[in-house]
Amino acid sequence: MKTSLASCLVVITLLGANRLGQAADPAHPDQPLVAPADALSRLKEGNARYTSGNLQHPGQTTERRAELTKSQHPFAIILSCSDSRVPPEIVFDEGLGDLFIVRVAGNVLNDEGLGSIEYGVEVLGARFIVVLGHSSCGAVDAAMKTVAAKGKAPGHIQSLVTAIKPVINSTPKADLETMTKANAKHVVDALRSSTPILKARVDSGEMKVIGGYYSLDTGAVTFLDEK
Ligand SMILES: [Zn+2]
Repeated sequence: MKTSLASCLVVITLLGANRLGQAADPAHPDQPLVAPADALSRLKEGNARYTSGNLQHPGQTTERRAELTKSQHPFAIILSCSDSRVPPEIVFDEGLGDLFIVRVAGNVLNDEGLGSIEYGVEVLGARFIVVLGHSSCGAVDAAMKTVAAKGKAPGHIQSLVTAIKPVINSTPKADLETMTKANAKHVVDALRSSTPILKARVDSGEMKVIGGYYSLDTGAVTFLDEK
């Protein structure tokens, strides 16, 4: 594992970061990279199938499972909340090998999550990242209430409050939906400016990071700031 990861990184570093769109992934020359705009379209199409009740459940056959035993090439990375009502594979109607997912309550960014995302980009070749918040997010709600009460959440739950607190402080009097979207944008900004791996790819236009907001009521994902 270490050897193949190291050699992937060496190859990618040698070939540089200016590969766009359907250029071959040098780590896996048999696979084209999926351009950010194509990844966004695919997620929108999958979410539209989900909201209209026309799920296709792609990539969940025994054949697909067998195909993926040697490699994986997910086309998007999703950083989403742990909430049981927002499973990315279902809300985007995707299957095995399609999405590289980090889930943590409040879709906050920690070092392990960032390392996972960098792996999805650098080694697996994904070029589109979505930070997905959602309506009625208990983590954001609890953080807002804890900060308002100048209190402390029990156990390690406080670490989530600490992560969301800067957003609460910079978005005073916001309601839960506004705060949840601000929290997603805060994490988007952190990823876009993250060195040394992500920022260069975002700046070159090769990769995109955007926020999303999932409605528990309709099942629809609204993409935030689609620049
Ligand atoms: Zn949540």
